[in-house]
Amino acid sequence: MKIQKAIQNNLFTLYYQPKINLHTKKVESAEALIRLEGKDGIIMPSEFIPQAEESGEIIDIDRWVFNRLIEDSRYISMMAQDDITISFNVSSTHFRQDCFLENLENIFNFTTDFLSQFEIELTEYALIDDVQGTISKMNTLKEKGFKIAIDDFGTGYSSLLYLKDFPIDTIKIDKAFVDGIENDDEKTLKIIDSIIYLAKKLDLNVVAEGAESMKQVTWLYENQCDEVQGYYYSKPLPIDKFVKFVKAVNEIDDPNAYIVWSEKYSVNNYAFDTQHMIIASLLNKLYEELKNKDMAEKTDVNIYFSLLDRYIDIHFKAEEKFMSDMNYADIDAHINAHHEFKKLLKEFGTNLSLSSKKNSYDLFVILKEWFIRHELTMDKKFTTKFAMED
Ligand code: C2E
Ligand code: CA
Ligand code: CA
Repeated sequence: MKIQKAIQNNLFTLYYQPKINLHTKKVESAEALIRLEGKDGIIMPSEFIPQAEESGEIIDIDRWVFNRLIEDSRYISMMAQDDITISFNVSSTHFRQDCFLENLENIFNFTTDFLSQFEIELTEYALIDDVQGTISKMNTLKEKGFKIAIDDFGTGYSSLLYLKDFPIDTIKIDKAFVDGIENDDEKTLKIIDSIIYLAKKLDLNVVAEGAESMKQVTWLYENQCDEVQGYYYSKPLPIDKFVKFVKAVNEIDDPNAYIVWSEKYSVNNYAFDTQHMIIASLLNKLYEELKNKDMAEKTDVNIYFSLLDRYIDIHFKAEEKFMSDMNYADIDAHINAHHEFKKLLKEFGTNLSLSSKKNSYDLFVILKEWFIRHELTMDKKFTTKFAMED
């Protein structure tokens, strides 16, 4: 009943978590994740999905999600001006029911040609029992254009039969394995390596879920994983922020940008370089907005500012952790420099809320100069060091 009420009162919303393609360094896909607005803030799916699965209301949730996806995907392709594959979760209890295809078809209207923008994430639990029925359902989905991903791969009844008989496109390596990279767990590393090897042989796309650290991203990059989804690059974001994030990341090679990214900024470390690039892009976008817009109309400025603010936090934490793990001699100086930047950024934010455009410009120039100086003075020999050595 609570679910019905939440639907009627428009309390559900979809967040989008970007996946970074490690080959192209761009956002080419994202996962839609449901959120519920509660009285005291956002309620996470772990707090309502399990009950909804028991009561059967999960079908209403899934249907609500399908409807929202159609609207959201139009908005995303219009605003981000890029083809982004949107993956979404379907509950295994729903998928296994006979009504699943009908429910999906009623909403997605299978005759339209935009279905190839979507990927359906299914866990291994969706696939057990009726193998023939599952294959035929999947074939119907594929014929209509949907892509199919196996979610939480390796945590259920992983069967190699899935890989042989089911028409899947993507394997998502569960966070539990990705955590093993952080802990140098040798067996886990071998398992991930084998999953990636197997996936490549079968021409499947491999996504690693839940990567939070520089060490994990570096390892995944060096071991040929295709995409990374995790807090290291971004948490799930409300749609407006998501679109802005995509625009910033995917326009990194804009030759007219305020800060033009080039090799000279590289610190010979994939994971750090990609975060630095994202920061540079966010600075660029912020600058564009500052330049073009009247301060009266500053929603976009604020969105870019808040993305940057959060991003700086993510990045500085990653960098400081790496330096401390590796006993970097100049760590104090580096942390101080980070503090200085955060102070500048805070000042800039306060200024924004005071709507003083002139001052914002001046402060922005200081931010930019700090960033460039910091990039150029990073100890590249040190950051080249790979955290996994020995
Ligand atoms: P999932 O499909 O495995 O989704 C990935 C979960 O990992 C998400 O949690 C995401 O926010 C979280 N995550 C991603 N990167 C990181 C990271 O670096 N660190 C950590 N600690 N977590 C990370 P979320 O959004 O709470 O969703 C939880 C589960 O709820 C999902 O697991 C999925 O099974 C279910 N769910 C979410 N949205 C929907 C939906 O629209 N429909 C259905 N049927 N189920 C959904
Ligand atoms: Ca998922
Ligand atoms: Ca998952």
